[in-house]
Amino acid sequence: MNTGEVKKIWEEIKKELKLQVPASTFEPWISPLEAVSFEDNHFTLISGEAFGIEYIKRTQYKTILEAFKKYFNREIIVNIEFNQEYSDKIKKEKQKLERKLQKEYKEEEEHKKAIDNLSYVKSLNINLRYRFDNFVEDTNNKIAKAAAEAVAKNPIAAYNPLYIQGDSGLGKTHLMQAIGHYVTMNSDLKVQCIKTEDFINDYVNSTAFVPNKNTTSAMNKFRNKYRNVDILLIDDIQFIENKKKCIDELFQTFDTLHHSNKQIVLTSDKLPKDLPEIPKRLRTRFEQGLVVEIKPPEYATRVQILKNFAEEKGVENVPQEVFEYIAKYYKDNVRELEGAFTKVNAYSDIEETPITLEYAKKVLKCEENTSKPTIEKVIEKVAEFYDLSSNDITSSSRVQNISYARSIISYIAREKLQTSYEAIAKALNKRHQTITYSVDKMKKEIKTNKNLNSELNKLLKILSL
Ligand code: ADP
Ligand code: MG
Repeated sequence: MNTGEVKKIWEEIKKELKLQVPASTFEPWISPLEAVSFEDNHFTLISGEAFGIEYIKRTQYKTILEAFKKYFNREIIVNIEFNQEYSDKIKKEKQKLERKLQKEYKEEEEHKKAIDNLSYVKSLNINLRYRFDNFVEDTNNKIAKAAAEAVAKNPIAAYNPLYIQGDSGLGKTHLMQAIGHYVTMNSDLKVQCIKTEDFINDYVNSTAFVPNKNTTSAMNKFRNKYRNVDILLIDDIQFIENKKKCIDELFQTFDTLHHSNKQIVLTSDKLPKDLPEIPKRLRTRFEQGLVVEIKPPEYATRVQILKNFAEEKGVENVPQEVFEYIAKYYKDNVRELEGAFTKVNAYSDIEETPITLEYAKKVLKCEENTSKPTIEKVIEKVAEFYDLSSNDITSSSRVQNISYARSIISYIAREKLQTSYEAIAKALNKRHQTITYSVDKMKKEIKTNKNLNSELNKLLKILSL
């Protein structure tokens, strides 16, 4: 009889045995038996387990013989033999199964660890959306992105500190938090991610006098929080300007971390040299590592950012021309670019209207918004107001009334039109630093100078702002 037939018979007899023998014996000892031959009334089964053979012969042999007899209608001699080859095969299969289970267990553990890590990342005030993989790269941000990635993959060894500068809404926080996200997910390094305001508030609370408060212990707690870390990420460091005591504390924190080879990452809307209120000793430390700048993204990048954003939000069927329309009008700030899309999407939800180009135009009214004066228009009108020409304004003259008019123009462009410092500097033919300085000065002066306020109001009226 050929082996195929023999095996079939055994399968049939096994079905019968399964009904007769308790599962605790059948599964481990009878089920794995393999039928190999049936000759001269001798039916041969092999097993890879010597102990199993003993056990079956002792406890189930009779039952097995009965089952064979029932099947063949006569007495059959059943041999159960130990087979080394079969034993090795089973062993190998067992090992394979064990390895597979181990792998599955490991994968499950890793998955669990990843989820734990993610909630840990969240507990560090890191926005899970801010990652390298969804940061759209272009010529204007690629150095900043590359530097941030280098720091994340190789803290301290790359650049320390890393200082990321850019106007509002260009992805500084995104890149900084992406570093924190990456490091937390891929290493055991301890990350502290904070806004400068939180650092200031923490400092003020730790040093504030409260009766019965143990100030030393509060201060130790504060220092432990910021100094006992491997990577300190501080967002919007420009807000520390004018906070003298905080600056001293930050200076100490900075030196402690730097000396013990810990990584520091800072972001700011100004370059270190454009933070005149911060003492030089701290500014030079900011510049000690690498300073990278982010400029507004190009049109194609803006379209891509919007597409990704819509996909992330699960908004489908948005015509390409809608992305293009929004990208065309929102140039200087990605937060506003995304905000414009969010607005269109929210309106379309509420009014249950599909998003089309016409609908986006109706909601955003970008064409009307562009009737806002351009920087050139502001230069022209302000020059006129002070009896000057546009050429005076863009000249290199430092005559006081011309400088004054320039400051007013810079202030209006920056604060009322949200023009980037970069664009203002270009239009006025001046350096970025000069513009940030004069806008800051204007902001302070406006608080106290009544004449300036009334001139400004008149100008804003002329410009319909
Ligand atoms: P900043 O800190 O410079 O003011 P953010 O990092 O808060 O700006 O970025 C504002 C918004 O724009 C965030 O939602 C961020 O994810 C998004 N964003 C900015 N630049 C990019 C980019 N290149 N790719 C994808 N999203 C971006
Ligand atoms: Mg930010």
